[in-house]
Amino acid sequence: MQSRRSFLKQASFMACAFVTPRISESSIDEEFIMSVTGRLKPSEMKFTLSHEHVLVDFIGADKVNKSRYDANEVFNIALPILQDVKNKGCQTFVDCTPAYIGRDAALLKRLALKTKLNIITTTGYYGAAQEKYIPQHAYIETAEQLSSRWIGEWNDGIEGTGIKPGLIKTGVDKAPLSDVQKKLIDAAAITHLATGLVIGIHTGNGEAAEAELEILASRKVSPAARIWIHAQNETDKSYHIRAAQRGSWVSFDGVNLDSINQNVEFLQNMKDHELLSNVLVSQDSGWYHVGEPGGGKYNDYNSIFTNLIPALRQKGFTQKEIDTIFVANPLRAFAIKIRKMQS
Ligand SMILES: [Zn+2]
Repeated sequence: MQSRRSFLKQASFMACAFVTPRISESSIDEEFIMSVTGRLKPSEMKFTLSHEHVLVDFIGADKVNKSRYDANEVFNIALPILQDVKNKGCQTFVDCTPAYIGRDAALLKRLALKTKLNIITTTGYYGAAQEKYIPQHAYIETAEQLSSRWIGEWNDGIEGTGIKPGLIKTGVDKAPLSDVQKKLIDAAAITHLATGLVIGIHTGNGEAAEAELEILASRKVSPAARIWIHAQNETDKSYHIRAAQRGSWVSFDGVNLDSINQNVEFLQNMKDHELLSNVLVSQDSGWYHVGEPGGGKYNDYNSIFTNLIPALRQKGFTQKEIDTIFVANPLRAFAIKIRKMQS
């Protein structure tokens, strides 16, 4: 007997037989998220911290090198901190560190296998911080050439490890964007259309966030493909509202003990505008600081569990709303799916 599912698959195959298959046409059953250990089913993602770090090296793109640290030492320091947050209820951990500022996919995979956390890593270049973390070739190459490097990591894995990225991470400072920052966003748009990877952009302010959407629109990439990282840097909440109304993800990712009230306020504002379905919340916490003895001060990942969620409950947020923010939204944001503008 043919199951309903295989019937639907066959029916949709027949309907699509004469058009080029696109990732966005995949059914819910086939939707997936890419972690450092491979594909995740949507049901495996669960509670997600969407922006954290295990290791960062601030030395600069010209000097960064994996020989600057002992990966075993980083592993041993990060392990109990990751195990701790897993015990508190985190199941998926997005390591938002890009190449040239400390991305180490092999280290993340070791940690994922040991902790049984799902860990997600990045492709893309970080253009914020006055371009200190942009490699020289990014100034010479076109957006197409840069995107072919990033698409290559999606197709073949990162630096010979076979590990694939689960998002494109890039970054810009405040508006106006520099030429190379614009090029990175354009390259991210091209990469998105070829891979379905969501584009997380570290962003200096609301005006820069709007400029990013213009560049994506020029490639017909929907705002739904963009995570506005560090939306909390823009205190004019009308920017958050406008971005979410256009379909973008608005990420409040600086949660710590000192910012609980501010984050509750941001989330309450989104809730008042019925835009909680466009919000991501994380801590941008961690990490092993390469170059500092013993990795310097490694902050834990617990503040959302121990401080923010209790504060949200006190403010009247329901379990369903908390699940929207930390389970349903990350699942939709990180699903591998091409998001094109409706034309
Ligand atoms: Zn970060």
